[in-house]
Amino acid sequence: MANHITPDEFRRHGHAVVDWIADYWSGLDSLPVTSADPPGTVAAQLPARPPERGEPLDRLLADLDTVITPGLTHWQHPRFFGYFPANTSGPSVLGDLVSAGLGVQGMLWSTGPACTEVETVVLDWLAELLDLPARFRSTGSGGGVIQDSASSAILIAVLAALHRAGGGRWREHGVDRPYRVYTSGQGHSAIEKAVRIAGLGDAGLRTVAVDPQTLALDPAALRTAIEADRAAGLVPAAVVATIGTTSTTAVDPVPAIGELCREYGLWLHVDAAYAGAAAICPELRHTHAGLEHADSYCFDPHKWLLTGFDCDAFWVADRAELITALTVLPEYLRNAATESGAVLDYRDWQVPLGRRFRALKLWFVLRWYGAEGLRAHIRDTIALADGFAARVEADRRFELVGAHPFTLVCFRLRSAGDTADADADAVNAELLARVNATGRAYLTHTRVGGRYTLRLAVGSPYTGREHVTQTWQLLADTATELKR
Ligand code: PLP
Repeated sequence: MANHITPDEFRRHGHAVVDWIADYWSGLDSLPVTSADPPGTVAAQLPARPPERGEPLDRLLADLDTVITPGLTHWQHPRFFGYFPANTSGPSVLGDLVSAGLGVQGMLWSTGPACTEVETVVLDWLAELLDLPARFRSTGSGGGVIQDSASSAILIAVLAALHRAGGGRWREHGVDRPYRVYTSGQGHSAIEKAVRIAGLGDAGLRTVAVDPQTLALDPAALRTAIEADRAAGLVPAAVVATIGTTSTTAVDPVPAIGELCREYGLWLHVDAAYAGAAAICPELRHTHAGLEHADSYCFDPHKWLLTGFDCDAFWVADRAELITALTVLPEYLRNAATESGAVLDYRDWQVPLGRRFRALKLWFVLRWYGAEGLRAHIRDTIALADGFAARVEADRRFELVGAHPFTLVCFRLRSAGDTADADADAVNAELLARVNATGRAYLTHTRVGGRYTLRLAVGSPYTGREHVTQTWQLLADTATELKR
């Protein structure tokens, strides 16, 4: 007989797991941010064969401390400043736990009406909080849906764009013309991947030049590229503009790009994966100017809005277009609600059929924090990043690289007068390697204008002024060690 867990056993172990997570969070500050163990360390501690007999959950919990935690990069650590944040929060975890417990598969409205309706309402709430154009709301022609990631959102946008560009033929005939998708050289690699998956090949992507100062897409270069492609018999289909590029959080000029998309009849997707959360604060909404031109828009609450991975919020201005592009209705999914036309079936808005109740974690986060709590998080983390930038600026050995409108600060050690760029790059790389090797902070890097550049991105709810100060001190002391 299967040894199913009883509700009472689940209750006991569930409490222990919640205690374990709470202890993990309260002890994070004293853990090294990253693991120093070589590859294979975790795998070597796991049995080579799966267990034949079931084990008590206490043994599993014990392994979390001895095997799992030491082998992690701690993304929730107060001194994790790498990539972009991927922060979670207590309310998000609890919402996810409820979703897991309910085990609802909400592919259709009829397979879990609340799963669909909460998602629709929560995405409308978010649209209001970000002040997105009215047509993105479900009460207008559009609507929002949760995708697993911004990468999936970009893929869906590209597919809908192909459907439109082909005058609806894409569904039947696929890519039957040489379509082109445009983005800047600073656009995320997910765009390249989406274009490839969509069947356009790498040749389907046009990388448009950026303004060398701001690293934002140059609309004049976009026009030139579109004109050249049209003249060559190619078919421009879509532009992916970015608000907050991954390297440096550059903001593409969406108003000008939007005008061009209108003029040439191109789909405009705006990817604000990380920086979109900023629009919750009225004083930062200027970064979203031009969104009224967009056909689709996405941002990741799983980055900077305290909602655990995975949660990308994706909106389209015309849901009918998207649904027509993606819907397939086999007999076994037919049901009265779908046929009534009165409900949304989110399976038609994404690649997979199945979907879990992801809206719950967002609902928990929005209700726990309220708009004012979320705005405070955005403002607090920006203030911490500004504080760090001020320290960089005050130390003559360092320089800021570009602006820091959100919580990402790009910086590097200046080149010593006669030092070649390559040597300066090597010193900066060594600075980063030494700092990260201490386990006391974790930063990542990029290249800006070809030059090695360090990135510090703030986002953890556990990060306070002291953690930023400690990290700055570590960087400054390490620079001294390097005789800079
Ligand atoms: N777009 C931008 C601007 C990003 O910065 C990222 C990730 O950092 C992505 C897309 C991809 O995000 P996801 O992991 O949600 O697919």
